[in-house]
Amino acid sequence: MRATIMYGAGDVRVENVPDPSIIAPTDAVVRVVRACICGSDLWPYHDMAPTETGQSMGHEAVGVVEAVGRDVTKIKPRQVVIMPFAFSDGTCAFCQEGLHTACIHVGFIGNRGMNGAQAEALRIPLADGTLYPIDVNENDARMPGLLTLSDVMGTGHHAALLARVRPGHRVVVVGDGAVGLCGVIAAKRLGADQIILMGRHPDRIALARELGATDIVSERGEEGATRVRELTAGLGAHSVLECVGTADAIKTCTAIVRPGGAIGRVGVPHYPTIPDAGLMFYKNAIVGGGPAPVRAYIEALLPDVLEGKIEPGRVFDRSVSLDEVPNGYRAMDARQSIKVLVAP
Ligand SMILES: [Zn+2]
Repeated sequence: MRATIMYGAGDVRVENVPDPSIIAPTDAVVRVVRACICGSDLWPYHDMAPTETGQSMGHEAVGVVEAVGRDVTKIKPRQVVIMPFAFSDGTCAFCQEGLHTACIHVGFIGNRGMNGAQAEALRIPLADGTLYPIDVNENDARMPGLLTLSDVMGTGHHAALLARVRPGHRVVVVGDGAVGLCGVIAAKRLGADQIILMGRHPDRIALARELGATDIVSERGEEGATRVRELTAGLGAHSVLECVGTADAIKTCTAIVRPGGAIGRVGVPHYPTIPDAGLMFYKNAIVGGGPAPVRAYIEALLPDVLEGKIEPGRVFDRSVSLDEVPNGYRAMDARQSIKVLVAP
């Protein structure tokens, strides 16, 4: 079968690899119906050291179950399933608490030698705990929205929950990538009064307004923080969603959060320590975040996607075949595309 392999920074190839098969009795093999390229795939695309073996890429998918191991009881062949980016057993203490990304058996698809989803098919460990079956035809027009439940919509929702978005809140979303845009959707869904998007790409800003952003701040640094204070009656935001993962983004969040407000961090941190700890302390800011337990959020978000109440699938502005995936990486890296859908 064909799969996407990254061999180093800027070096993405689509190659023939062995077909996936059941290895552990708890595995399933899933044929990929839709996958996509993630903003987080651009980090290794920039800084991955060259390797001989490469890393199979992709951690978001909707697919059809082709085979299951002998210990898989809930997931059946031919089911259409959403594949969260992390696999989990669904039974341990953390899974029961809804924090599947802290599962004692957790692993991340398309990471550390695991097979990825930018492929014709892949092996899913712990299939019963990981996969979420949906009663939808694989050709359904809502596929792009359903695909976002494997990562970006669940991650935007996580940021909003950690930032304690409530009805009436003033919210700032830092970052205009797909997760930031899903953060706008999540904040609106949770009843935010004002949703300020901090971003500077015209196409993303236009989409953010359609998805619920009430104000846009394109300035950065102190200038951007001043602008946000002006827009929030001089007090700052109750809830700040950090959807970038840089030290500058955290500094912005700390500068604009209202005293007693909350910052939800979902940008994978590319900084060793959290800056501005003193300011954060004196503001009594609540700070939380980490990899979103998207498996736990599918239940709540799925009905809204199926009924069209939210349209996270709109973050996809380009679709490519598997062989065109390297072009998809180039387009996202050049900011010519918000998020690229892959239809194998
Ligand atoms: Zn678990």
